[in-house]
Amino acid sequence: MQDRFEHFINGVPTYPSSGEYFDTYDPHDESIIAQIAKGDAADVDAAVKAAANAGEAWEALGAIERGRILKQLGALISERAAEIGATESRDMGMPGQATPGIIQASAQFFDYYGGLAPSLMGEVMPTVPEKMIYTRREPYGVVGIITPWNAPLNQAARSMAPALAAGNTVVVKPSEWASITTVMIGEIAKEAGVPDGVINVVTGFGADTGTPLVEHPLVSKIAFTGSIPTGAKIGEMAARKIMPVTLELGGKSPNIVFEDADLQAAIPMALYGFIANSGQICTSGTRVLVQRPIYDDFAKHIAAAAEQLPIGREATFPCLGPIANRMQYEKVLAYFDSARAEGATILTGGTPATGDGLDNGLYIKPTVFTDVTMDMRIVREEIFGPAGVLIPFDTEEQAIAIANDTDYGLCSGVWTQNLNRAHRVAAKIKAGTVYVNTYHDQSVDGPVGGYKRSGIGRERGMQALSQYTQTKNVTIQFS
Ligand code: NAD
Repeated sequence: MQDRFEHFINGVPTYPSSGEYFDTYDPHDESIIAQIAKGDAADVDAAVKAAANAGEAWEALGAIERGRILKQLGALISERAAEIGATESRDMGMPGQATPGIIQASAQFFDYYGGLAPSLMGEVMPTVPEKMIYTRREPYGVVGIITPWNAPLNQAARSMAPALAAGNTVVVKPSEWASITTVMIGEIAKEAGVPDGVINVVTGFGADTGTPLVEHPLVSKIAFTGSIPTGAKIGEMAARKIMPVTLELGGKSPNIVFEDADLQAAIPMALYGFIANSGQICTSGTRVLVQRPIYDDFAKHIAAAAEQLPIGREATFPCLGPIANRMQYEKVLAYFDSARAEGATILTGGTPATGDGLDNGLYIKPTVFTDVTMDMRIVREEIFGPAGVLIPFDTEEQAIAIANDTDYGLCSGVWTQNLNRAHRVAAKIKAGTVYVNTYHDQSVDGPVGGYKRSGIGRERGMQALSQYTQTKNVTIQFS
């Protein structure tokens, strides 16, 4: 891997105007792996102007040709999944064996939206005989995409692919904690035939690069994935410009296990629901609600399964890697301290994971809390680490009430063999996704997004494509 990464602007690696770089670390051992260009407003301005200049020609290519190029980009990412995955593993920490799957899912976004590009159609209205009214679905122009560190390439691809398919050009600002694979995608896009300026990547910190991107007058839409506090700031900046935003934010998702559930499937998947990617997934099922008759047995078995999970860089899936950066590692351990202070019981875990090959990395043991109350911080706030709480319940109504007792509404799970109950509960949960008898899914075609404070708008699926377009009404009066 190269040891320095520049911005990618107008089809070429571009030095930061400040001449400054920052270090990026491997969370498996906290070694420095590369220097990343430290962007500022001047770099953002160059990238946005390149994107604006490229817009007309990109749109004029037509949907079929744009789609063909995006599918080619998907194919190249897929071919290079092993190399990109190894880089993602070093930069973000996901164990090596887990990365090819998530890189393939990233590639699929380009394949899927490449195929969907020609399906973006307008409508003809019935209206009155002396008039014709039709609609056109037009791109916004330059879309700014700001992403977090927990699944860097996947989150970037998820917004880039529909934005580009709809005829927009993009400037992507990846997280300062894990930028490399997003920069790589710029270069792979050039190889795939994406014209210069259509995809630009500016690396750097939120205030230095993210804010100028949101505030730039030539940026017409922002797709943001990240935390609620940053999402709120971006929402305010966008409101001042009267600019649409998609906000994909955090969660504290309930996973409800009824007494008739298939426990052979429910126990490992409930565990996977909050330890996958070391708990650093927005949709993690971190509040596991278990019906009282099976609660004690469930708790015993999930703790035993947690203790069996392999941990480390080369661990075999399902497994845990490190927390992606020191800031987040300390935040997770501080939540564990708050749990102790507030009187929760730590059924298993609760400390850093140490031992063979782990001592220099940011590893934390998979952790299960019991004896929690609804006001504890570990029950109300997103930890974003490998930790879940177990909460007993008696009735379906009580489960729904507990599930909805949160400011968040991103995701949820229901485990039951009773089809009627599955549909009843799915309808009553206030969340953008309800999994039934499973948890987590990397399909590109099912929409994701938040109810309540978990966000605004949807990514993935057909719905996301429409959110990267604006509708124009053309009304013709016949003479
Ligand atoms: P974050 O909000 O700290 O940062 C996200 C991005 O915003 C980064 O690129 C950062 O540099 C940028 N940023 C920070 N301050 C900014 C500012 N003032 N102006 C413009 N940009 C700014 O989030 P994070 O810690 O990187 O990611 C973790 C969070 O992301 C969690 O809350 C998680 O739930 C959420 N997330 C949500 C989804 C989803 O689809 N809903 C997916 C993944 C992660």
